[in-house]
Formats: sequence, structure tokens, C-alpha cells
Amino acid sequence: MYDAHVIGLGSMGASALYHLAKAGLNVVGIERFGIVHDSGSHSGQTRLIRKAYFEDERYIPLLESAYNGWKEIEQTSGNTIYTESGLAYFGESDHPIVQGVYQAANSHRLPFRACSNREKAPFALPDSFESRVEIEAGFLRADIAIKSFVEAAKKTGAQVFQNETVRAINYREDIVEVETDKRIIRAGKAVICAGSYISELIPEMKNRVQVSRQMIGWVKPKTNDLEMFEQMSAWVIADKTIPGIYYGFPMLDDVTHPMHGQLKFAHHTIADSIHPTELHQYDPETEEAKLRRILEQFLPELADQPISLNTCMYTNTNDEQFILDYLPDSGNKIVLAAGFSGHGFKFAPVIGEIVTDLVARGTTQYNIDFLGLDR
Ligand SMILES: Cc1cc2nc3c(=O)[nH]c(=O)nc-3n(C[C@H](O)[C@H](O)[C@H](O)COP(=O)(O)OP(=O)(O)OC[C@H]3O[C@@H](n4cnc5c(N)ncnc54)[C@H](O)[C@@H]3O)c2cc1C
Repeated sequence: MYDAHVIGLGSMGASALYHLAKAGLNVVGIERFGIVHDSGSHSGQTRLIRKAYFEDERYIPLLESAYNGWKEIEQTSGNTIYTESGLAYFGESDHPIVQGVYQAANSHRLPFRACSNREKAPFALPDSFESRVEIEAGFLRADIAIKSFVEAAKKTGAQVFQNETVRAINYREDIVEVETDKRIIRAGKAVICAGSYISELIPEMKNRVQVSRQMIGWVKPKTNDLEMFEQMSAWVIADKTIPGIYYGFPMLDDVTHPMHGQLKFAHHTIADSIHPTELHQYDPETEEAKLRRILEQFLPELADQPISLNTCMYTNTNDEQFILDYLPDSGNKIVLAAGFSGHGFKFAPVIGEIVTDLVARGTTQYNIDFLGLDR
């Protein structure tokens, strides 16, 4: 009998497990695949982190805590997770996303600087585009982050079952019973962080979230000036002719990663809906052609280079806001952290902290009213 289960040890579940264990709870985590895999929402090595939150300024206080949380897990694990590369925003000043960035930056006094010519050098940008760099922004190493949380949780006493799928969750007055393909595990409470698979466990979520397949491209720079690509900022391009944004990362020096020596880039917009089991069933030629358009338009020097592909899933709510609430009718015994809509990773530490508050204290100091199920 545990104090709490954490179902799903991906981005949010790994952090939840760590924070629950750190708070002194006897906690068990269950993950259907391994710790870090490519059949969820966290693959592809890196994630952007930024504070100029054009999506909704109510996320900014959560981000302040998340930044502290990333520092804490770096110290606890001894691993580097956050790189403050800066984040360059390229776009016309009247683009709604560019306006949203500047508005959030102004109201929260977030430091920005001009973009250097060297940082702009790889790009072909229209004269009408402005370029500014958010200083306290950059990227997170997602795979290292998740492993760090799980390892730290284990050191604090958490039990972890990998390659074990939760099939059903039953609850009665003082107990939550989780049935996996290997055993039955009992605890007082549960946290569900099942990412794109949430509707398998909670069928009512089918009306709340849709899963989409998102493609990631990798391309090798042609130049001898590799330092330019290693030292560039992370970047975002907001162009009025495309929905969403294009974005990318500097080239990383991690020789152990299969995409070592390549630049990662992608299109952040909600793609077609799929069932999670269809994630890897795509036509590479079609997907490569879509990604090549980004290079042709904005990184023409790289446009004739081969592109390697990865996939990943978004779990999208109708309003693209997260879901962070108790499961209705569970007597506040089950916490749901779901629907991170393609922008959740950077928040993982504070999500872990909030679910721990909800499990251990029944309340949290953070404003999460806008993330409730009653919206
Ligand atoms: C291409 C791409 C780019 C992105 N870029 C950014 C970015 O730049 N910045 C940012 O902040 N966010 C970004 N995101 C979003 C972010 O990665 C997600 O919001 C976040 O990973 C969601 O975390 P999660 O814990 O809900 O899902 P996951 O990390 O997928 O974790 C869910 C886990 O639950 C497990 N699970 C599911 N069902 C069961 C079950 N029945 N039993 C046991 N285990 C189960 C799964 O195997 C999985 O490991 C991006 C996402 C994608 C796909």
C-alpha cells in the first residue's frame, strides 16, 4: 500500500514522482515503455523554454517557479538540463505572436536584446522582419531532465515499474487500485500523467483532447563555420503566411545522441489528429517535403541537404490550455495532469510541485483556476 501512484513517467509524471517523493510520500511510478522513449510527447532531445508567454500571461508566475525548479533538479542530479542560449524572435511587428511576446515582455519586464548579425547570419529574413532576443530563455534537454527526475525520485525512496501498462483505475472510499498488465497496486491517491494515452484510461477525456502527430526535422550544416551553429540562439519565426511558428535550436555537442552534428527545426502548429498507435505510420516523403519548405524559405543554404525525421505527439485541448484538476467524482483522490497542447515541457517542475500540493495538502498556492475541468 503506497501513499500515491504516478501513472505515466514521461515529462510530467517524472517530475510528479520526484516532488511527491521529496515531500516524504511513499510513492510508486508506473510507465508503459522505458524511461524516455519515442512513443510519447517528450522525444527529440530538446524543448524551448521562455518567459514571454504570448499564449497567456497567467502562465508567467508558473514559469518563474519552473525556472527555479529546473535549477533545483540540476543541482540535485548534477546534470545540465537548461542552456540559456537566448531565444531570437523573427517576425513583423504587427504579427499577433510578436505582439504577444512584446506585450508579455513589457508587462513582466523581461530582458530582451538586439539580435547580432552573427545570430541572423544563417537565416534569409524579409526586410520587414524585426529580430530581438529574449535573454532568459533557451532550451532544456528533455531526455536528461526526465531521467534526472526519475533517478532523484528513486534515491528518495520511490518505487518505479517500467514496461508495465496500467489497464484500469478503480477507486473506493480510501483506496485507489491500479490494475497493470502485471499486478494490482494499491495506494491512497493517484496522479494520472498519461500524456497522449489519457483517453484509454479516462474515456471521458475523448471529448476534451485530440492527439496530433508532430514532425521534427534534423539537417547537417554545410559550412565550415560550425561554431556559428553551435553558438546561435534558439529561434522562432512568426510569418503571416503560415499558421503557428517555425522554430529551431542551436547544434548540440552531445556525441552520444544519434542526431549529433545536426540542427533541429520544426513547425509548431496543430497537425492532423491521430490515434497514439498511429504515431509512426507516416509517409516520410510528404513529411520531409513539408519541413523542407521551412529551409527553402528561411534557411536556404541548407535547403538541398538531406533531412532526418522524428515524430512526437501533442495532446491538444480545445483552448490549448493545460488540464490540472481532480478527476470528477474521485473524492479528490485522483489528480489529472493532461492536455499539455504542445507547450507543456518547460513547466514540468512546477506541475510536479502543484500535483504534490493537491495530493498532500488538497490545495495549492498557485493560480490554476484557468486550468480546471470546469472551464
Ligand atoms: C515535437 C514537439 C515539440 C515540443 N516542443 C516544446 C517546446 O519547445 N517547449 C515546451 O515547453 N513544450 C514542447 N512540447 C510539448 C511537451 O513536450 C509536452 O507538453 C510534454 O512532453 C507533455 O508531457 P506528458 O507528461 O503529458 O506526456 P509524456 O511525456 O508523453 O508522458 C506521458 C507518459 O505516460 C505513459 N503512459 C501512458 N499511458 C500509460 C499507461 N496506461 N500506463 C503506464 N504509462 C502510461 C507514456 O508512455 C508516457 O511516457 C513539444 C512537444 C512535441 C511533440
